[in-house]
Amino acid sequence: MCDSRLTPAAGHPASVDQAASSAPESTEPGEASGITTLPSGEPDEWHGRHPRREFKARGSQVIRCEACRLPRLNCLCPYQVSAQSRITFWLITHPLEHYKPTNTGRLIADVLAGTEVFSWYRVEPDPRLLALLEDERYQPFIIFPDDQPDYADRVVDVNAIAGVGPEVATHTASGEERIPVFILLDGTWRQARRIFRKSPYLDGLPVLPLHTTRLTRYHLRKPASQSHLCTAEVAAELLRQAGEEEAANVLDDYFDAFNDCYRASRIHYVLEPTAPMRRLLARREAKAGE
Ligand SMILES: [Zn+2]
Repeated sequence: MCDSRLTPAAGHPASVDQAASSAPESTEPGEASGITTLPSGEPDEWHGRHPRREFKARGSQVIRCEACRLPRLNCLCPYQVSAQSRITFWLITHPLEHYKPTNTGRLIADVLAGTEVFSWYRVEPDPRLLALLEDERYQPFIIFPDDQPDYADRVVDVNAIAGVGPEVATHTASGEERIPVFILLDGTWRQARRIFRKSPYLDGLPVLPLHTTRLTRYHLRKPASQSHLCTAEVAAELLRQAGEEEAANVLDDYFDAFNDCYRASRIHYVLEPTAPMRRLLARREAKAGE
């Protein structure tokens, strides 16, 4: 899903990175000589600038960091930080999406401990997911656009979330705290819709659409529309709307760092830390000092 879940204010279903996923990956940089350092300024200002020397290793194989899977030229690992949130995310990831290094769903798991990632198989649901869906401590919502009439009776808004809506019980009958869970369908728009339609075990869940006017900042795949947010952006917006501002900001910064690191590597730049990266580094330093 990347984008799938989003329903923009204009009423179009937001979709995911669809166009994106079908687009071929651009040439990846290798780790080699001929690298220059980025000019100062934010990435948006780089347009039109060129490395001082041309990259020579044409067609060279990309060397990736084994931990973050980004080209090692601009590894994301130094910027990985954690954040706290009452909200938990469970991702149901389309198998074709799992191993794409441009997938942003995995960024959520880096930032929020407790994130669960499941592979979607139509005929064989993950038994661990089925067990979690039965666990009364969790209050799961499926994040999906509210653009079709046949499930209109399942559509809710943020006031249905425990801890957000004043009328919603925050504890189970046995006194345990209820944990709101946002289930994201991680794939292209088409894949997400298929998961939504072909997973009977999700049929009873309330549907929480994301309404936002936010435009995507994702640069690694070409979106069909600027209103099609990628998975990490959808998660950040949902956190913000659920009152989890700090976690939303950290995830947004981490997403921007991912985006910029990846993009810089594609054009063979060694990236100087951007403003979001500097905030993440400061957060890491503060946490280390705690
Ligand atoms: Zn790394």
